Amino acid sequence: MAKINISDMLTSYDKKKLTIATVCSHSSLQIFNGARKEGFKTLGISVGEKKKYYDAFPLGRPDEFFVVKNYKDILKYTDELREKNVIIIPHGSFVEYLGPDKFLTLDLPTFGNRKVLEWESDRKMERKWLEGAGLTMPREIKDPKDISCPVIVKYHGAKGGKGFFIAKTYDEFKRRIKKNKKYVIQEFVMGTRYYLHYFYSPIQNNAFKLSKGSLQLLSMDRRDETTIDEVQRLGSIAELEELGIHPTFVVTGNIPIVMRESLLPKVFDMGASVVEKSILLFGGVIGSFCLETVVTENLEFKVFEISARIVAGTNPYVAGSSYSEMIQPDLSTGRRIAQEIKYANKKNQLEKILT
Ligand code: AMP
Repeated sequence: MAKINISDMLTSYDKKKLTIATVCSHSSLQIFNGARKEGFKTLGISVGEKKKYYDAFPLGRPDEFFVVKNYKDILKYTDELREKNVIIIPHGSFVEYLGPDKFLTLDLPTFGNRKVLEWESDRKMERKWLEGAGLTMPREIKDPKDISCPVIVKYHGAKGGKGFFIAKTYDEFKRRIKKNKKYVIQEFVMGTRYYLHYFYSPIQNNAFKLSKGSLQLLSMDRRDETTIDEVQRLGSIAELEELGIHPTFVVTGNIPIVMRESLLPKVFDMGASVVEKSILLFGGVIGSFCLETVVTENLEFKVFEISARIVAGTNPYVAGSSYSEMIQPDLSTGRRIAQEIKYANKKNQLEKILT
């Protein structure tokens, strides 16, 4: 990772005029709305053109738009953006479209620990982290010839589940696999999906206590994925596959959800051990992260992915969730991020939450 010195970058900043900035997409309405509630100025980096739909949401609209031709151009304007005292809130689309390598070299103060990227974007490293934290992941099938149960085949770097497919036999796998693309094969876990939205603060001790700092559970969602989630409207998957129609896993939206309360201790245990392990491995995941899980009929969690920043699944909760309501009314993840920056600024600890 390129050396970015956060202290140097912040010395030129006017700390009374910090501006929360992100790319206009994904969860940006929520991020701007939350920042506004905490009294921050906001800046929306708009790729291509100024996005007109923001005019329809005055409380989610950034105070200022910064229009760039394409994502890569953001790198050309970092001096100008620093003059505006911006703090970048990265979201999934920001990192994906700018490209992880470029994101690592972006010389703008960025919320969260950018070192997490190498642990999150490489499936082997991700497994080392999560299993090292004691979590159970879906079994990986190394050799497709060993497929003896339903599996899901995932291409590397696939955006929003694109191209993923289910196979039940080696023959089916052979028929559907795209040559020259890297992939992993996982057992398809039967159960119900919960995407858990945590917030870890290394500098505040007012929630679920960890060895350093504390952990909150702000909300959870279930992703709405086309076509798998509605495929049954046309018949069973088996029937459709006979006709050559295969379900896909492309995310189109998010559905709010709560979990039976008796599962919450496990939810906190998992979140806590993921954070503790991350502290040992790379200095800690900071701020928002999401564990993507399936709960089996034995009420066991299988975690198939981690997202180490604000996820779009938090968007149903601009005005708070059933969980965040018991922390503070009207608390979204976007707002919680703004609060963390505000608190760190007040305590002169911005270096502890920005990289
Ligand atoms: P991912 O890109 O890993 O988040 O996966 C995309 C979607 O595929 C998820 O949101 C789930 O609906 C589904 N999925 C991923 N892994 C598994 C698994 N091991 N078992 C069952 N469903 C899965």
